[in-house]
Amino acid sequence: MSLERTLSIVKPDAVGRGLIGEVLKRFESAGLKIVAAKLVHLTPERARAFYAVHKQRPFFASLCDYMSSGPIFVSVLEGEGSIARNREIMGATDPAKAAPGTIRKDWGKDVEQNAVHGSDGPDTAATEIAFFFRPDEIFRPSH
Ligand code: UDP
Ligand code: MG
Repeated sequence: MSLERTLSIVKPDAVGRGLIGEVLKRFESAGLKIVAAKLVHLTPERARAFYAVHKQRPFFASLCDYMSSGPIFVSVLEGEGSIARNREIMGATDPAKAAPGTIRKDWGKDVEQNAVHGSDGPDTAATEIAFFFRPDEIFRPSH
């Protein structure tokens, strides 16, 4: 494993239910460091750009409506193997199939409104982080 950065999103359903703090607590408890963070309200166009990889999927239009329906909380998580670690903490895409103790099991409503997003590999992590953050918005230790 190596020191990695990954993009996390607390999705509109979870932000609306006041779960930002609960989600961040899970990341911090697992040793992942929050090195950038902000609240963003995506326009439908920006949501379509973020999820462009899914544009042929039947759920694309509904997903983009949902992701632009209210504020999201985006953050960059840093740590050893943070990409896979975050995916473990999130749980499976469908909350009904997610393992006990995962964010999606505990707080996901359904397969669309599943509380959180996490990058799925090094290339997507880099692209997704750059989608939301300038390099100077990401914390670097000065030691
Ligand atoms: N999604 C959906 N219906 C599906 C599969 C996915 O609405 O049948 C939504 C869901 O919000 C999911 C997102 O599309 O988180 C991206 O799908 P992906 O397969 O990349 O799942 P993830 O990487 O988020 O687990
Ligand atoms: Mg995905």
